[in-house]
Amino acid sequence: MKKVIKTMEEWRKILTKEQFDVLRNNATEVPNSGEYYHLNEEGIYSCAACGNKLFDSETKYDSGSGWPSFYQPANADSVSEHRDSTHGMERIEIKCACCDSHLGHVFSDGPAPTGLRYCMNSVALKFLPTTKS
Ligand code: FE
Repeated sequence: MKKVIKTMEEWRKILTKEQFDVLRNNATEVPNSGEYYHLNEEGIYSCAACGNKLFDSETKYDSGSGWPSFYQPANADSVSEHRDSTHGMERIEIKCACCDSHLGHVFSDGPAPTGLRYCMNSVALKFLPTTKS
């Protein structure tokens, strides 16, 4: 995979403030606030920073968490996992494997078949609906 590497100043110019805060500064959007939490359409969720394909709508489910949740990434190499010990918790951070932007966290309370919950920030994603021809 070709890596996308930019400086903080370059990212700041490309992204909105909300996107920059989450994607490059690990912020978390307010629960139930994101535009994709209740979206239930067919399509692809890509990285809002670099366009890397991250999740398929087929794996999206309502976790009740307040953030869009998926049980598996689009491809095995779509995202990368990182230990996150901030905020007094032990969590696994999920980043875009292409541009290293912060997307959210993964938890082990998800549904079958993986048992995983990829808990994502809406603002870190860009939804591309499946075009019906
Ligand atoms: Fe990315």
